[in-house]
Amino acid sequence: MEKIKVNEDMCIGCGACTAIASDVFSFNDDGYAKADENNNVLDNMDENLKNDCLDAMESCPVGAIVKEEE
Ligand code: SF4
Repeated sequence: MEKIKVNEDMCIGCGACTAIASDVFSFNDDGYAKADENNNVLDNMDENLKNDCLDAMESCPVGAIVKEEE
């Protein structure tokens, strides 16, 4: 299954992903984005949320959001 994840080492905290898909992305205490571990499986998302996650991934200026097969 494909999960969406944030590489926190790359994130610059711009807030694009949290604005686009706030049901999945939020900031951690250090001001970097993280994906909700209980809501990060793309196949389990409804179509709208899945599209928002993919939009967020494309909108990330540093390419910190990735899909991982697990
Ligand atoms: S869009 Fe990318 S750089 Fe911006 S907060 Fe999200 S993961 Fe971080």
